[in-house]
Amino acid sequence: MRTIDIHAHWYPEQWLQLFEKDGPKEGAKLERGAKGYTIRTERITNAFDDEFVSLELRLQGMRRQGVDLQALSLTAPMVNWASAGFGLALSQAYNDAASAAHLRHPEKFLGLAMLPMQAPELAVKELERCAKLPGMRGLYVATNVNGADLDEKRFWDVYAKAEELGWTMYLHPVDTIGRERTTRYYLKNLLGNPYDTGVAAASLVFGGVLDAFPKLEVNLPHAGGTFPWLIGRLDHGTKMRPELKHMKRMPSEYLRRFSYDTIGHDDRINANLVRLVGADRVLLGSDYCFDMGLADPVATVARIEGLTDSDRDRIKGGTAARLLRL
Ligand SMILES: [Zn+2]
Repeated sequence: MRTIDIHAHWYPEQWLQLFEKDGPKEGAKLERGAKGYTIRTERITNAFDDEFVSLELRLQGMRRQGVDLQALSLTAPMVNWASAGFGLALSQAYNDAASAAHLRHPEKFLGLAMLPMQAPELAVKELERCAKLPGMRGLYVATNVNGADLDEKRFWDVYAKAEELGWTMYLHPVDTIGRERTTRYYLKNLLGNPYDTGVAAASLVFGGVLDAFPKLEVNLPHAGGTFPWLIGRLDHGTKMRPELKHMKRMPSEYLRRFSYDTIGHDDRINANLVRLVGADRVLLGSDYCFDMGLADPVATVARIEGLTDSDRDRIKGGTAARLLRL
């Protein structure tokens, strides 16, 4: 059985070059320095080093971690901040590069498609194009699209297409909630990321997306963010509040509609996540290779208490292999 990392970030050189060339026209820029790269849009900044770019360094990293295959994804700033046209061009550059990485190393890399969600009709077209690219096996969507929540109807055609393709929609935070209140102590990441994921999951549940697309698979990063831990509160509110009168089922009945990764940063949290949602809904993820990720994601799975060997195999790669159609 292969060990698969479903939360692994990559900035292809071709994508960086396009960003560098045309980004400044839209208020964005890439700085290359001795220590790596700093990427800036008007609202989003991210910094990373060569290990996020070079496939050779990545293959070494994977050997070190005991990971056989990564499902590659872009991360902040993604592409939603840009104009529709540039967002599409950046998406295409990423997706073509990810498919090329797969063709060079078919046993090592698959790609999760980036889409210009700020222009949903273009996103659907790009999703259709990606479905024909070798090695593309899922889509990567921000937990909010320039502040818009994911239950907005304009996104539903994308979900319909993803469901039709049988592709899992992997969510990831970007430009997160409570921006003004999370400027200090790295709270933008430490809390902003999991809180934004919680809002995204709640929007999909309360907004009827998971009912409208019963076969759509959705993966929540960082062990589900706040969503699993507040599920009792969401259920209680659903019983009590007029705003949720429309709900036919309790939010907790949707827990297993999502899958989750192992980036809980606490063995007790990871064990409780498995207990809450089932070992078949938790997938190995590392956030490769950010300092906020897991340096040894396989050891993290090994430390989760109370699992059978087959549970552990499912988390390390069995379920991911199914979702990625290996
Ligand atoms: Zn990440």
